Amino acid sequence: MSGTEWILDLLFPPKCPYCQRLMEGSYTPACLHCQPQLPWLVGAQAERKIDFAAGCLSPLGYRGSVVESIHRFKFSGRASYARPYSILVAQCVRDNWHEPLDAVTWAPLSKKRRRSRGYDQAKLLAQWTAKELGLPLLGMLDKVRDIPPQSQLQEDAQRRANVLGAYRLGKKARPEGMRLLLVDDVVTSGSTLGECARVLTQGGAGQVLCATLAQARKN
Ligand SMILES: [Zn+2]
Repeated sequence: MSGTEWILDLLFPPKCPYCQRLMEGSYTPACLHCQPQLPWLVGAQAERKIDFAAGCLSPLGYRGSVVESIHRFKFSGRASYARPYSILVAQCVRDNWHEPLDAVTWAPLSKKRRRSRGYDQAKLLAQWTAKELGLPLLGMLDKVRDIPPQSQLQEDAQRRANVLGAYRLGKKARPEGMRLLLVDDVVTSGSTLGECARVLTQGGAGQVLCATLAQARKN
């Protein structure tokens, strides 16, 4: 831990993202009480299929305290959760993926949403995950169309139609031949990540692997 981190921990003691109790240090994914109780996905449970991607890896099920935690991360300003989340995401990728990766990218918010929220939570998670894995972080996608929240749509087909054309390759993005890790906070139907992977692959990316903190359900 650097001197600055030590002082920051002293001034703003990190809280557990799941129960909000104080944690032992900033380099901890969860408090000792929550760690054994989290809805861990083990073995093949951690993987699911995503269109246009090599798959998606997630360490946790989207249940109970994980749902509330991600809700605070997205809507209640708990941007600091990105770091403890990233420890789990990076660990899951290291445990389950043994091929090289060139860079980390993310499924972005629209400019409008980012302005109103003050931060892009997927970018923060991608940033810390990149740091954990020792990979560069590269912005590749722009969200060009604000769409109704996917969570309001029940059917997978509706979700796919909703997200179609919502993302495009950024003007400076050069994904040609790259093996990318595409990061988001949660995967539900997989249509958002699938659409992002489609744009990246059609833009020339060699391979896209997705990783999220939590997975809502399997196909
Ligand atoms: Zn806890």
